[in-house]
Amino acid sequence: MVQLENVNKHFGALHVLKNINLTVSRGEVLVVIGPSGGGKSTLCRAINRLETIDEGKIVFDGQVLPEEGKALARLRSEVGMVFQSFNLFAHKTIRENVTLGPVKVRGTAKQAASKRAMELLERVGISAQADKYPAQLSGGQQQRVAIARALAMDPKMILFDEPTSALDPEMVQEVLDVMIGLARDGMTMMVVTHEMGFARRAANRVVFMADGQIVEENTPDEFFTNAQTDRARDFLSKIL
Ligand code: ADP
Ligand code: MG
Repeated sequence: MVQLENVNKHFGALHVLKNINLTVSRGEVLVVIGPSGGGKSTLCRAINRLETIDEGKIVFDGQVLPEEGKALARLRSEVGMVFQSFNLFAHKTIRENVTLGPVKVRGTAKQAASKRAMELLERVGISAQADKYPAQLSGGQQQRVAIARALAMDPKMILFDEPTSALDPEMVQEVLDVMIGLARDGMTMMVVTHEMGFARRAANRVVFMADGQIVEENTPDEFFTNAQTDRARDFLSKIL
C-alpha cells in the first residue's frame, strides 16, 4: 500500500528522517514505537505529504506521491489521519463533522453522506450522540468520532499518530477497541502508539524508531519479549 525508499528529511540542521526504508502492505497493521523526538510524527506527515521530503521516494498504492495539485489532494483524501488532538469542528454537530469531508471533497450528496455518517457513528458506538457538539462528548468519544470521520472518506489506509495519548486512562480502551475492530476488518493501518496491548493484539509488525532511524523491526511478540538492540530494550524498560 505504501513504500518508502531511502527517505531523508531535515529541519534545518536536524536530520529528522535518516534513510527510511519501510513498506506497509495492504491489510497490514504496523505499529511504530519509540522515544519522543525520534521522527514518528514526521514520518506519518511525510506519508500524507503534510511534510515534504528532501530525498527518496514514497509510493502510495502504486503511485509516486505527487508534489502538489489535484493528484495530491486526491491521494491525501485516500489516506485517513487520526491525531492525538481530535481536531473536530467545534461548531458542527458530530454528524456534521463526519458528513463534511465526503460532501466537500468527494461531492457526495448531503443526504447520502449523512446516512453513511450515521452508519459509521454506529460502528464506533456514538450514534446516540450524533446531534451533540464535540465539547459535549468525552475525549474517548471525540476520538471515536475522529475515526468515523476518517472512515467517511473510504480511505485506503489510516495513519494514527498517538491516538490515545491525550486521553484519560479510562477512555483509552474504548478507542483501542474501535481500532482493533478496524484491524480485524482488514484496514491498512500505521499506528504510532506505546500501547503494548494493542500492538500485541492487532499489529502484524512493530517498528522501533529513534533518532530518525528505524532501529529495529519485528513481530510484536518478539519485539516486546526479545528486543534485539540496547536502544529498544532501554526504551521498553522505561514504558513497561
Ligand atoms: P516524534 O513524533 O517521534 O516525537 P517528531 O517527528 O515530532 O518526533 O519530531 C522529530 C524531531 O523533529 C524533533 O526533534 C522535533 O523537535 C523536530 N521537528 C518536528 N517538526 C518540526 C518543525 N516543523 N520544524 C522544526 N523541527 C521540527
Ligand atoms: Mg509525535
